[in-house]
Amino acid sequence: MELLPGVILTFALLVCGIVLSARRRTRSSPSRSASDRPLLLHAINDDRCTGCEACVAVCPTDVLELSQNKSRVARFNACIQCEQCVLVCPTTALVMFPRGTEPPLYKMAALDEHYRAAPRLYLIGEAAGKPLVKNASNLGRAVIEHLVREGLRPSARGGDDVDVLIVGSGPGGLSCALSCLAHRLTYALVEKDELIASTIARYPKGKHVMAEPYDVRCVGLLPVWDAEKSELLDAWKTLLDARGVRVSTRETVEDVEREGDRFAVKSSRTRYRAAAVVLAIGTRGTPRRLGVPGEALPKVAALLDDPERHAGERVLVVGGGDSAVEAAIALADHARAVTLSYRGKALSRCKAMNRQKLQALVDAGRVTLAFGTQVKEIRADEVLLSSSSDLKTLRNDHVVVCIGGEPPLKWLEKVGVRYTERPHLYQLGPTDQLVEALVGPQPENSQPDGAQRDGSQPHGSQPQNARPDSAPFGVIPQSTDDAPTVAISLFTRRRHPSSSQLTHFISKEVP
Ligand SMILES: Cc1cc2nc3c(=O)[nH]c(=O)nc-3n(C[C@H](O)[C@H](O)[C@H](O)COP(=O)(O)OP(=O)(O)OC[C@H]3O[C@@H](n4cnc5c(N)ncnc54)[C@H](O)[C@@H]3O)c2cc1C
Ligand code: SF4
Ligand code: SF4
Repeated sequence: MELLPGVILTFALLVCGIVLSARRRTRSSPSRSASDRPLLLHAINDDRCTGCEACVAVCPTDVLELSQNKSRVARFNACIQCEQCVLVCPTTALVMFPRGTEPPLYKMAALDEHYRAAPRLYLIGEAAGKPLVKNASNLGRAVIEHLVREGLRPSARGGDDVDVLIVGSGPGGLSCALSCLAHRLTYALVEKDELIASTIARYPKGKHVMAEPYDVRCVGLLPVWDAEKSELLDAWKTLLDARGVRVSTRETVEDVEREGDRFAVKSSRTRYRAAAVVLAIGTRGTPRRLGVPGEALPKVAALLDDPERHAGERVLVVGGGDSAVEAAIALADHARAVTLSYRGKALSRCKAMNRQKLQALVDAGRVTLAFGTQVKEIRADEVLLSSSSDLKTLRNDHVVVCIGGEPPLKWLEKVGVRYTERPHLYQLGPTDQLVEALVGPQPENSQPDGAQRDGSQPHGSQPQNARPDSAPFGVIPQSTDDAPTVAISLFTRRRHPSSSQLTHFISKEVP
């Protein structure tokens, strides 16, 4: 027994020695972690990197930085291999993989470089894994230009028999309809919500819409610029009215089937026939769920509509991205109490501007942050939040769950979209370049009236069922021979990144 303290002391010293030596090893050389696991390298997909800065903000050793709004490994030698940057990346643009191996594969819709899932069937915008408003507007135009290039011409059909059936009236679908008009193609634009552009219409009141991505120009026919949500929607409405764009709201597309060389499209209201189908359905329809008891209560919503409706209420917002932070900011002016619950330890998934606004509200006592917490249960007048150390009950009148959405995979597969695994660095490329490869150089469309500032008039002001033999759309390039080659070579190169391209994305300082 007398020997016991000595043994314990020796053991303790041994453990300390091991820990200190492991720490020293970790600091001095990133190539050997404490557990001797292989060195992890970064791979960053520029296509999916939205420049949200989450990885930069969370990195404890200042390894990453933004360059031209994309994350870059600037000081790999300082990397302690903690993988925090991977955990916070909201779009899986950034992953780490063991040196000597390939980055993990990524599951995505099997689309060609023109966002085509099958002949004359396209998937665009957020549901195609290409989020943000400007991208959606560009893609809406690109697919119609591509259809025309592939030989689609206005048909004399009318009523429910159309050239193009467009599912969803977000920026992708609206831009698509404007392009149909410009080419005299008949279309039906079907929207399941009562509101046109419902994802954007249901942003929190007063939200500032950022015209993203910043390194891509808007060359779709639906203009996009930095503006308050209501300003953008009002201008879009004026433009759509002027062009005579028709949207059939409160109508859901339920099924799409091939019928000979056309499509039969079943909606909640009727049955369409179409030569081509564009799916622009976004991901808001299938919001991610918390999977906790009480989630189905009427007081739980996936999006904040009008913050004024929650005046005097105690509101819990769940999430750590821009949507959650913007909801908390919007609610702070009206609700009696706002709590933001996020399972991460810091708010690193949102834009710096949103973080600053939120911090000011937290400092003023108008928003309470509950980091490192998870919702355990939602009850009629309270919620249970758990953290690693305790379980708290909060009085509560309303819950907003802003944890993102998923494309409805099963439904998309049923209607003909295949899914596949792609190399992590697979890119469909910048959407403005896709349009320009089809129609030639374009002026930026960032003016409220949709007029492109090159001296030309906005096109497509004719009614949708104009004569099929009417004059062609003004911006079709004179020579149609070169553009597809440009597109094919451009995207073929991007689709299969070589090992030298890969090293562009990883540190130049890898030992
Ligand atoms: C809170 C919040 C803030 C955001 N802030 C910004 C920002 O500042 N800047 C930015 O660039 N992006 C922002 N985004 C992302 C941006 O809104 C989306 O990337 C963009 O709207 C995608 O456009 P879309 O046309 O692909 O789909 P959506 O705009 O989502 O439109 C899809 C439409 O399809 C309809 N639909 C779905 N299924 C069917 C069906 N079966 N039948 C008929 N209709 C159907 C839906 O009701 C919806 O109206 C934000 C998103 C959210 C949620
Ligand atoms: S966290 Fe944001 S900035 Fe970093 S790689 Fe992911 S999307 Fe890009
Ligand atoms: S793994 Fe990522 S977060 Fe961690 S130190 Fe390296 S770069 Fe920074």
